[in-house]
Amino acid sequence: MLIVKKFGGTSVADKERIFNVANRCIEDYKKGHDVVVVLSAMGKQTDVLLDMANDINPNAPKRELDMLLTTGEQTSVALMAMAMHSLGVPSISLNAFQVAMHTTSVAGNAKLIKIDKDRIRHELEQRKIVIVTGFQGISKYDDYTTLGRGGSDTTAVALAATLHADACEIYTDVDGVYTADPRIVEGAKKLDQITYDEMLELASFGAGVLHNRSVEMAKKYGVQLVVRSSLNTTEGTIVKEEVKMEKMLISGVASDKNVARIAVVGLEDQPGVAFKLFRHLANHNVNVDMILQSIGRDNTKDISFTVTEDMADVAVETVERHRSGSLKCQDVKVNKNVSKVSIVGAGMQTNPGVAAQMFEALYDANVNIQQISTSEIRVTVLIDEEDTNKAMNAVHKEFDF
Ligand code: ASP
Ligand code: MG
Repeated sequence: MLIVKKFGGTSVADKERIFNVANRCIEDYKKGHDVVVVLSAMGKQTDVLLDMANDINPNAPKRELDMLLTTGEQTSVALMAMAMHSLGVPSISLNAFQVAMHTTSVAGNAKLIKIDKDRIRHELEQRKIVIVTGFQGISKYDDYTTLGRGGSDTTAVALAATLHADACEIYTDVDGVYTADPRIVEGAKKLDQITYDEMLELASFGAGVLHNRSVEMAKKYGVQLVVRSSLNTTEGTIVKEEVKMEKMLISGVASDKNVARIAVVGLEDQPGVAFKLFRHLANHNVNVDMILQSIGRDNTKDISFTVTEDMADVAVETVERHRSGSLKCQDVKVNKNVSKVSIVGAGMQTNPGVAAQMFEALYDANVNIQQISTSEIRVTVLIDEEDTNKAMNAVHKEFDF
């Protein structure tokens, strides 16, 4: 069997944890399996590096940030290889160049294009455990790139897909995927299984357990994932296409505080206004999420939308810049004290009243809804940030997991 095992930062945070991971990998190796290990940077090292960069230059070139951040993963893979050697097991660490992990050239948010197999295959044939840096790649200009925060999960899934691995295990500091963040919601339960689609919605709407692009990729290539803890041997959660157990209505509740709402008030009520607004935003790389347009009155209308907090200023500047030209409006308002709370479940496709049930729980908890968006298997509300935990608990309780 070929097994890809990915370990997050907390799983390799110190010497003891590094040896713990080394031993877990060696266990599989000794059963005769081929083992490919993907690692994140140790502990909070990526944040530490970002703080260092920010201290030197708050507007550091993205290329140099990537150059810096990739050292985090390079440190952990080298130390892991040393640990395995000290335990008498042949292993080798490889970075993005040595494997050749080709990505797009967008520094800080690159996408994997192709992973070369030859070097890894060669090392596996020598019966070595291969330890690969997560999160990083190389651009066609031979520069380091990174895949976005949390991107090591995506490295692992991409490797599993490329190498046709028999298993892809994502090790973290929690026991699996929960119905809600157990640190916020009392009574949150671990799920045995979840579908790719549900996991993707949960990951995209605030459940921090998996990088959303890793789930997208797992679905695309049919890579079955197991999310489990590196600190114990509990079974974990399986992420796959179909879940056969009795269907729960809702599989999870997620929240995301990294949201800002921008309201563009008093736009002209005529064709092309939304097009121009969102075209300008797209040109400035602003990713827009929930969009709401009011009914026109007195030949004007309002459009509000959400963005991640770090993009709020860019979004407002973009609108301001065009206010006297192509985008006439009365006012631009921004509110960073908002959050999103979402429920996700394949069961809502076939059961009416799920949204109403969520809204009722929020009403009972006296939480005001500012905006709503939905997909086939998700309902999201925008609320006051300070209501987030109250809302999470109320909704979770309502659906009685
Ligand atoms: N070390 C990177 C981060 O902290 C990538 C990862 O952990 O997946 O975002
Ligand atoms: Mg992670």
